[in-house]
Amino acid sequence: MALFVQKYGGTSVGSIERINAVADRIIHTVQQGHQVVVVVSAMSGETNRLINLAHQVAPDSASSASRELDVLMSSGEQVSASLLSIALVSRGFSAISLLADQVGIRTTSAFGKARIVSIQADILREHLQHGRIVIAAGFQGRDEENNITTLGRGGTDTSAVAIAAAINADECQIFTDVEGVYTTDPRLEPNAKLLKTIAFEEMIELASLGAKVLQKRSVELAGRFNVKLRVLSSFIPFNKDTSDQGTLITYEESELEELLISGIAATKDEAMISFSNVSVDFFSGADVLSLLSDKSIEVDMINQSLDSKLDNKEIDFAFTVGLDDFKATMSLLRQYVEKNENICSESMQGSETVAKISVVGIGMRTHAGVASKVLSTLAKEHIPVLLISTSEIKISVLIDQRYTELGVRALHNAFELHM
Ligand code: ADP
Ligand code: ASP
Ligand code: MG
Repeated sequence: MALFVQKYGGTSVGSIERINAVADRIIHTVQQGHQVVVVVSAMSGETNRLINLAHQVAPDSASSASRELDVLMSSGEQVSASLLSIALVSRGFSAISLLADQVGIRTTSAFGKARIVSIQADILREHLQHGRIVIAAGFQGRDEENNITTLGRGGTDTSAVAIAAAINADECQIFTDVEGVYTTDPRLEPNAKLLKTIAFEEMIELASLGAKVLQKRSVELAGRFNVKLRVLSSFIPFNKDTSDQGTLITYEESELEELLISGIAATKDEAMISFSNVSVDFFSGADVLSLLSDKSIEVDMINQSLDSKLDNKEIDFAFTVGLDDFKATMSLLRQYVEKNENICSESMQGSETVAKISVVGIGMRTHAGVASKVLSTLAKEHIPVLLISTSEIKISVLIDQRYTELGVRALHNAFELHM
């Protein structure tokens, strides 16, 4: 007998039909003699619908994470958890739906991006001992002041891993609408290949660089608590053993060392700000960045180039911020430019229509030539590269958004990831 945490994402519980199908899958697991704690997301589209309602009431509410927005957004998971529990009970099984508070999920107070601090595992264990199937509402928590909090978009993955760690589950199974983790988003590149395994570090990179199949924090948490984590489809027949389905996140590198590149991720969630030909005497990148850090705005890619041949030294300075922070960043920097009469306002440009494509692989540690292949591949497709950033196991390029699919496909092909 094993103890499984099974997480079902929005599409997996997106309709009454799907909720019934998920109930059947859970029953199949239980009938094989296993114990199950289920963690559910809101029905697909529901969280967006709720955010949109808030936006209609007050246009600024949707962008600023706040207490009330968390109360609103968390309601989606309450609906799907209770419906799934009703489906199980109506089939004669003992099931109970629980909200975060009832499972004792304590979080920090950072509304919209709270972190789980603790979970009362004994509550879950007691229900399991009574033979109940527990259906926990994902994405939500409570802070010390008893406020409802949420864990950031895609946060049910993190709820599931945290619960799996707390009850020491044998495996945390993330059921979604694709068969596992692919070499790239299969919706962008139909030739993407399903990976049987992926190294933990690579999965963290892919998740943080746009592969939304797992929320980054869920992978970090799995690593910290050594949770066996598998991604698999809730749409394929469930009469097969799950131990050879989907993608297993592995913590050992040895079997994967041969792979140079494991995957490619893309995101349109960043925006670029650039200063061109500004005089070093009047402009300082450090000042600009500290203005942003004072407002807790995180900067991702940065590039500075100095034209020292000119007597009057000029620099180009460009960087990216999250799309959510773009408006605030532009307004801060407009003030900075206005105060600084030696910087002409036209020298600053902002663009929301950029995309970041990242090539990820632990093989990069020991192989050279990845960056040149990335750049030559994009050049062949006439895709201009606006910014580049690298780390030990990834290379990211910023390009115009309209080339995202073309870029991903060209790189996927160049690195022969379909093979
Ligand atoms: P859920 O609602 O189940 O949480 P998500 O929409 O959050 O599902 O994540 C699954 C989606 O992630 C897939 O439908 C796919 O389009 C996208 N995705 C992006 N990159 C990858 C990848 N490398 N492998 C698999 N899916 C990916
Ligand atoms: N319902 C939340 C969202 O759409 C959480 C999740 O799906 O994981 O982001
Ligand atoms: Mg998700």
